[in-house]
Amino acid sequence: MSEEQDFRLSFEFFPPKTDVGREKLKDVRAELVKLNPDFFSVTYGAGGSTRDNTKGIIKAMCSEGIDVAPHLSFGGDDEATIEAMLAEYKSQGVKRLVALRGDMPSGIGSAMQMVYANELVAFIRRKFGDDFEIEVAAYPEIHPEAKSYLDDVRYLKGKFEAGANSAITQYFFNPDAYFYFLEECKKEGIENRIYPGIMPITNFRNLARFSDACGAEIPRWMRKRLESYQDNSESLTAFGIDLITELCETLLENGAPGLHFYTMNQIEPTRSIIENLGLND
Ligand code: FAD
Repeated sequence: MSEEQDFRLSFEFFPPKTDVGREKLKDVRAELVKLNPDFFSVTYGAGGSTRDNTKGIIKAMCSEGIDVAPHLSFGGDDEATIEAMLAEYKSQGVKRLVALRGDMPSGIGSAMQMVYANELVAFIRRKFGDDFEIEVAAYPEIHPEAKSYLDDVRYLKGKFEAGANSAITQYFFNPDAYFYFLEECKKEGIENRIYPGIMPITNFRNLARFSDACGAEIPRWMRKRLESYQDNSESLTAFGIDLITELCETLLENGAPGLHFYTMNQIEPTRSIIENLGLND
């Protein structure tokens, strides 16, 4: 890490659907707060499918004095709805947003118009000036719908030109993909920070399914090792902790400006990885 940059740590949650899930998340955040993250973030189902749940968690965390960034996308909502939601977040003390296009929820088909993330960023800046720090998504292994590698990098640049401050990446397991991406972004004139998204490993089948859908590559050697642990979750978790700790070490040693953990609403294995990295002091 270059000396002028401060290391940034953040943890992502998704909004639980049930009261039991919401109660459990209270315990999870109480533990993860002890690791001193710079902020938490809470995902938002495109099309507003998690609107109330996301808003509820954000409100609860703001009232606990936790720095939390809601994810946001237009989905099928009109500008007035998004503006009202942003005003509500602002009044609760939210200072950071993660602005996304989102994905089409299954069942809605092509009926819903998707608004590119750069347009959402521009809208937020137009309506709220510099009231919020804005994060956007980046894809070191390239977004599955991108026309080409360079197109995707240029669209990321468009999000920064619209006013985004920094980006958080889709998760990846090959650090070379991230560093190559940073180089290509630099060549295109992007100077904003791009924080690696880190996916702890707990379940091979879910990881494989999700990775196929979002275009994150599981290297063959890793897939083979994970497959062999399928029925032994303890060994898989231990292997996953070592693997992700090493990935994070490589990223930080080579200049990544921080880490963003996709916690999946669990304390572990995120906490063990942070402790292995010595970041809990
Ligand atoms: P965009 O940046 O709009 O890009 C979408 C696609 O269109 C890309 O292929 C891009 O190359 C292309 N493109 C971009 N701009 C233009 C343009 N102006 N004209 C033409 N083509 C363009 N999903 C959720 O539903 N909820 C969440 O809370 C959520 N959180 C996420 C957090 C992170 C850190 C990441 C990495 C992803 C998250 N996602 C979430 C997934 C994300 O919504 C999907 O990957 C979605 O398909 C793309 O969103 P985006 O904001 O990157 O889209």
